[in-house]
Amino acid sequence: MRYLVISDIHANRPALEAVLKDAPSWDAVWCLGDIVGYGPDPNDCVHRIQELEAITVAGNHDWAALGLLPLDDFNADARHAHLWTRRELNDFSREYLQQLPTSLEHGDFTLVHGSPREPIWEYLLDLVVARANFDHFRTPFCIVGHTHLPLIFVLNDTINRCYTIVPDPGVPVPLGQYRMILNPGSVGQPRDGDPRASYAILDTDAMTWEVRRVAYPVEITQERMRARNLPERLIKRLMVGR
Ligand code: ZN
Repeated sequence: MRYLVISDIHANRPALEAVLKDAPSWDAVWCLGDIVGYGPDPNDCVHRIQELEAITVAGNHDWAALGLLPLDDFNADARHAHLWTRRELNDFSREYLQQLPTSLEHGDFTLVHGSPREPIWEYLLDLVVARANFDHFRTPFCIVGHTHLPLIFVLNDTINRCYTIVPDPGVPVPLGQYRMILNPGSVGQPRDGDPRASYAILDTDAMTWEVRRVAYPVEITQERMRARNLPERLIKRLMVGR
């Protein structure tokens, strides 16, 4: 099976469409949450994900848009964007987001937004936190989003050492020898200094994970954000991918 793995679309429809056009053929779509929040097209993105029959878990921004998280936990710009998103969401989108689970197991893979220990909130940014999280899922592999950084944490349990791999776009990484936590990066708001949309292709026959990048018309998303009076800082950061 080949899976298209996407995360953190953040209501950025042009980025999502660019990924769907760029991706080589797939059998199923896995989505790691944060479909909405920040961007101008929350309903369109939810609709598209449902059309794709994606297996999806909930992210912190999806919960915030539903009013399930206190907005004090977000910075001022994110709060503004959430209040806008809450008003914008239609009943159909709200119902879809409400029924999303916080974690799923699919064969050898556990899917969560943040971390297996804290699926909604925890950021997997360093080796100490990553190492602790290997004890919180049963499968060989876990796929996460949330940090918007395409990154792999590897656990070599024979020497009890955890390390990271920054995958080169377009170069498949073999899976199987060690347990791993895999992050495909963000479709709609990359933060690794590369503004191109990030996603991954997981091939469970070849057992490979390939991160891919594709440029999308950032200016169209920016224009649509300006038309909705979304915060300028959120609009500008799309250009630099930070
Ligand atoms: Zn996110």
